Amino acid sequence: MQTNQSALVLFSGGQDSTTCLYWALKNFESVRALCFTYGQRHVQEVEIAQKIAEKAGIPFQILDATIISQLAENSLTNHDMIMDKEKPQDSYPNTFVPGRNLIFLTFAAVIARSHGIKNIVTGVSEADYSGYPDCRDTFIRSANTTINLAMDEQFIIHTPLMWRNKTEVWALADELGVFDIVKNETLTCYNGIVAEGCGECPACLLRNEGLEEYLRK
Ligand code: ZN
Repeated sequence: MQTNQSALVLFSGGQDSTTCLYWALKNFESVRALCFTYGQRHVQEVEIAQKIAEKAGIPFQILDATIISQLAENSLTNHDMIMDKEKPQDSYPNTFVPGRNLIFLTFAAVIARSHGIKNIVTGVSEADYSGYPDCRDTFIRSANTTINLAMDEQFIIHTPLMWRNKTEVWALADELGVFDIVKNETLTCYNGIVAEGCGECPACLLRNEGLEEYLRK
């Protein structure tokens, strides 16, 4: 794929974005990580992300996007709300943060532009259980076009996980030679427990089911 190019990775220190970070390191000559804070449940998430980026030897930038937690209620940023474990019949679980990925991609593009970076990498996936609208391929393509038009640039938004379920994300980490790093050092758990997590929150259930399935193969 692309060589002699640079990429900016939207990076949270979780399983998906860490796999994307290493995917980018394999496919681009230089990589930067961008980590958003927006009142998530655990500040610790940012420290974990920073540690992983340091270990990978890449620049790590934190951007305060807390304003999105002030726009609408969701259970990721409102710590008094109980998280939906499943997707309600005709709406989205309350972990959905409306507009998040559009805002994040826009901010990321502005930052990428300031570094002369054309490639933006994000770990969104359509195979995700919750089916958030801003994780879908059509949205990403549309956002890519809009952002390019807005800035008169030719960014390419890469979504290496778009069509992979969790089992396939584990397989990709293994392929990239970072299975142990992803397994032992990332934080996906909504309760802030690193690696295998609490085992009970929706993020843990998804991560651990995928891992078990991958290890069975
Ligand atoms: Zn958990």
